[in-house]
Amino acid sequence: MAAVIGDPVTHSLSPRLHNAAFRAVGLDWVYVALPVARGQARAAVDGARALGLRGLSVTMPHKEAVIDSLDGLTSAAADLGAVNCILRAPHDDGLLLGDNTDGQGFIRGLRADLGLDPAGLRCAVVGAGGAGRAVAHALGAGGASVTVLNRDPGRGEHAAAMAGPDGRFVPLDEDRAVRTAIADVDLLVDATPTGMAGDSSISVPEACLRADLAVVDLVYHPTETPLLTAARREGSKTANGLSMLVHQAAVAFEHWTGTAAPLDVMVAAIA
Ligand code: NAP
Repeated sequence: MAAVIGDPVTHSLSPRLHNAAFRAVGLDWVYVALPVARGQARAAVDGARALGLRGLSVTMPHKEAVIDSLDGLTSAAADLGAVNCILRAPHDDGLLLGDNTDGQGFIRGLRADLGLDPAGLRCAVVGAGGAGRAVAHALGAGGASVTVLNRDPGRGEHAAAMAGPDGRFVPLDEDRAVRTAIADVDLLVDATPTGMAGDSSISVPEACLRADLAVVDLVYHPTETPLLTAARREGSKTANGLSMLVHQAAVAFEHWTGTAAPLDVMVAAIA
């Protein structure tokens, strides 16, 4: 059995993704969404340990809180200070490790959707929350140069530092600096909620978009955001957030089962 803990969590697409994947590879496993209130992360991890759960996904508000209950962290989880996937240690001696699969999922999606490799790629990441930090970290670790654009300078600087020594921060309200930063990059990643259902705004000036700028919007509901529509109008290659969602789940699936994730089945499960 595997599960996701969070609050709220009933809207999570993870049960659909993982249950379809378990069935496709012939595993008699089940994945359920478990609402766990703030402050109950340790009790939930202890419960998962006692029940012998094979895998646990972690979503808000527990991504930081679970860390103290674990026996170790991957380098991504340690650097980001956030865990979204708990797995048994390789020798399965009862130890639980925390990973953060968002960055790896993003990079896999980037390669699959846009044929882009992070090595040498010049990138701008808009937003510096959990998703922006994970993407900046993974791009930096993969050899990309990263500029983080954010409203709040403290969070922006922090996310830029995640990208390594070359990570740079530009305040999102400094129009000229934003335009200059985006003019210099190959890839623009929007890691803000801008463009979610009903929001018709775009987080960067539309004039920054151009045909040779690839654009990824991490929003997946809706799958078509105003940013992606505007970018494609300019002739850009674009991708929405569904790919990162599926690929981060695939990394977790592989941690838990030791089996390659059936990506096509997972994509179809949330189509
Ligand atoms: P978060 O931790 O709340 O961070 C949100 C970030 O967006 C903050 O940096 C915030 O800036 C910025 N922001 C919010 N509203 C903005 C606006 N109107 N204009 C400009 N910047 C704005 O959220 P998160 O967990 O990082 O998630 C961000 C987005 O990524 C969400 O839409 C989420 O659905 C998506 N996401 C997708 C995946 C996937 O698998 N595809 C995974 C995770 C997240 P300040 O710091 O200045 O407040």
